[in-house]
Amino acid sequence: MSTVVSERPAGIDGDTSPPTRVGSWISDFSGPYRLMLRPARLGELIRNASVSAILSTLLISIPLVVAMVITLIFLEGMFSHPSRTFDQMWQILREGPGPSVLEGVIFIAPVITIAIVAVIGLLSLQDVFRDGPVRHALVRCFLMSVSALPLFMLIVMPAASLLITFDQRSNVGPGIDFVLFTSTIAIGFWLVVAWMTRALSVLGNTPEPASLEYKLCENCGYNITHAAIDSICPECGVPVRPSILPELSRRGVHWETGGPNKLINSMLSAFFSPEEFYGRLQLRSGVPRAGQFAAAQLFLMGIAAACWVFTLACLDREKNWLRMGALIGWGAGACLVPIIAWLVTRGVAAIVALVWFSRGLLRDGRWLAKVACYELVYVWLFCAFSGILITTYVLGGNWVSSLLRNVLKVRSFYSLPAEPILVLGGNVLIICLWFLRYRKILRAIQYSNN
Ligand SMILES: [Zn+2]
Repeated sequence: MSTVVSERPAGIDGDTSPPTRVGSWISDFSGPYRLMLRPARLGELIRNASVSAILSTLLISIPLVVAMVITLIFLEGMFSHPSRTFDQMWQILREGPGPSVLEGVIFIAPVITIAIVAVIGLLSLQDVFRDGPVRHALVRCFLMSVSALPLFMLIVMPAASLLITFDQRSNVGPGIDFVLFTSTIAIGFWLVVAWMTRALSVLGNTPEPASLEYKLCENCGYNITHAAIDSICPECGVPVRPSILPELSRRGVHWETGGPNKLINSMLSAFFSPEEFYGRLQLRSGVPRAGQFAAAQLFLMGIAAACWVFTLACLDREKNWLRMGALIGWGAGACLVPIIAWLVTRGVAAIVALVWFSRGLLRDGRWLAKVACYELVYVWLFCAFSGILITTYVLGGNWVSSLLRNVLKVRSFYSLPAEPILVLGGNVLIICLWFLRYRKILRAIQYSNN
């Protein structure tokens, strides 16, 4: 019996929408503002939008960002010094020993805006690219990122105004303003992420690459489309049956197929044996289930970090430890740790994406988006390493500096404090190991047929 590849597979997310309408330049130009609250429609528009139209939107958005920053500085100044008049405030903004605040904002805000837009575009690549030239997908990601600017301003302006007002008008104890600040950042951040995820899922919902019609030997990548099912691969000599029948090779991971303790089992399996885990993962079944796994990891990390900070405060027994432990636990642990975890995971995956996609190593680029969701499990290693080290610092003082001084006779490490350097260096090493881990993952998914 020989395998027959019949029809072309449907889009991963069951895309049945008609071919996208190509809008006019004006509708593309106004799209990011018009469809600010409709990310799915915007994702559809960006798929075929005119590049010059969206770049013109960027040219309009940058002065608005500058105006927003100046307004917020004004607001802050007027609340902290109520006696100053508008003219006095304006004068202060325009004067200065070196460049004035106004000049600083006018020059720096556009540079930071464009840098953030470029980074977000790069982080989005894994959600959009499937096959072909990477440049086209990168441009679309950049345009999508530009289109998020109106929403960004819509969130930042009221949130920052509220924070400034609260900070100047209220008289709360220490810690509350920190919690309010981090909570606002967390809410705004996850709103933008949810918005971008929706928009990118539509932008990237293009048909699967035509090359997936061919069956490859999952061991070596040789084309076995017409090989008999009981034969062996002519290239590597491995039986072709597991490559052709998904129930033999890619049976799915516990998280997606169910089973006892599916969350814990999938976490342990993905962390400790990535080759086995990703070798089982069904790559063509869409990203949503993997996204839920990622959300579960972020939630658990936030809870764990909050509990850890609280326990540290409890062990340290400083004055006000209960209040500070709870406030910092929530503000730094629950609010900031998941954001950092998400950014690091996406950042590493974006670098991997650039290398893999430009070398054409994946049959469908969006498989990496699915892998990146499960790879959040690796962040537990950062949490464990940094958590244990910082706990020893809190309980045992500067033992690394003492060790260097007394045992290794090293007086100073380029005049830098040894403790944070060790935490930072260890985390950089863990990131390097992550890239090696991705090499194993590539071997497990590169020639997948399912
Ligand atoms: Zn082979």
